[in-house]
Amino acid sequence: MHKGLIVQKFGGSSVANVERIQKVARRIAGYRKKGYDLVVIVSALGDTTDELIELADKINPHPSEREMDMLLSTGEQISVALLAMAIHKLGLEAISFTGAQVGIITDSSHTRARIIKINADKIKEALSQGRIVIVAGFQGVTLNQDITTLGRGGSDLTAVALASELKADECEIYTDVEGIYTTDPRIEPRAKKIGSITFDEMLEMASLGTQVMQARSIEVAKKFNVPLHVRSSFSDNPGTMIVKEAERMEDVMVSGITLNKQEAKITICNVPDRPGVAAKIFKKLSNQGINVDMIVQNVSHTRSTDISFTVSKAQAHKAMKITRRVAANIKAGEALLDEDIARVSIVGVGMKSHPGVAAKMFEVLAHNKINIEMISTSDISISCIIQKKFAEKAVRTLHAKFGLGK
Ligand code: ADP
Ligand code: ASP
Ligand code: MG
Repeated sequence: MHKGLIVQKFGGSSVANVERIQKVARRIAGYRKKGYDLVVIVSALGDTTDELIELADKINPHPSEREMDMLLSTGEQISVALLAMAIHKLGLEAISFTGAQVGIITDSSHTRARIIKINADKIKEALSQGRIVIVAGFQGVTLNQDITTLGRGGSDLTAVALASELKADECEIYTDVEGIYTTDPRIEPRAKKIGSITFDEMLEMASLGTQVMQARSIEVAKKFNVPLHVRSSFSDNPGTMIVKEAERMEDVMVSGITLNKQEAKITICNVPDRPGVAAKIFKKLSNQGINVDMIVQNVSHTRSTDISFTVSKAQAHKAMKITRRVAANIKAGEALLDEDIARVSIVGVGMKSHPGVAAKMFEVLAHNKINIEMISTSDISISCIIQKKFAEKAVRTLHAKFGLGK
């Protein structure tokens, strides 16, 4: 009996070794025997992608992005083949495909490509032959036949895009935790599993550094309304539903706390206080492809002021070079780099209707003698830059004070 189509995605830790691949195969077989059609997306085994990046770095610290994609896409090719074999061993029909084979067409921005369209005919044909379809996550192909990858965590995007294209009845994201938690359970063991969370909150959490779902996959899920179920590949417990705001049950003020240690802070001292100076600095940075995040300009009491901003650690040294040059050019003082910072953020759609959330966050940090160096806000989040050594303490105290703990 045909029951519907389920898209299931298994992350790297879910297929880290032989036993886990076999376990995933048994789970898939269980669903198949209940009568579901299945399209399964897999990530590279365990830490394969990180290992391949390290390997490339030993050969050439500045590898061509096209060759990087050629290399990284091999990780997922290994997992799909092994998973198909594991399913065959259980006596079921399965077939594995690369991203290119199933027509995941992307633009040519290597290492962070965007999906343009999907020609799902091959998948549909295999499904109609009664096969379980296994697709390599994280990869696509350009119209020129060059292999691309979709950015770190990109298997989530493959799953969402295929679920949308195939109009799947469900899209399940299997990982090594039981769902989305109020904060990273590795930092705060008292973190609680969230029953349901909105696309906007999840997108905000992912953009602010929560690893569990790739931010872009949530953007696409929201756009095409693909409800997601994030759950554990090690248990049968229900996980977290990511849904439209209207479908959310509880009215909570703060849903989660995030931490990001991947940013650095640059300060330019004694910037002359006249129109056009900030424009000059940030234009130079953006022309060189540097993404600037938070920006703070101090009030000027004299004729000059300090400007601080954050960039990703990966771009910090390049950004410093450019900043030093501009600083000299505009006759500002020295430029300083601080890599020992962290961003803690609180996220929740309830902030829109509950006043006083920011004040409470600042008070909690102040009580714990944690100095706030920069602040930024959005509709549904508040972020503070603090010294890195206080990061975990800040997460745990905010988690407790906003009543998120067990
Ligand atoms: P996968 O390999 O399945 O894609 P990831 O490593 O990308 O898994 O994401 C899962 C990890 O995300 C978890 O092990 C967990 O430590 C981390 N994580 C960080 N913040 C959260 C959170 N708020 N809720 C759940 N997991 C989180
Ligand atoms: N293997 C890729 C990564 O580690 C894609 C993924 O796991 O989603 O980023
Ligand atoms: Mg992931």
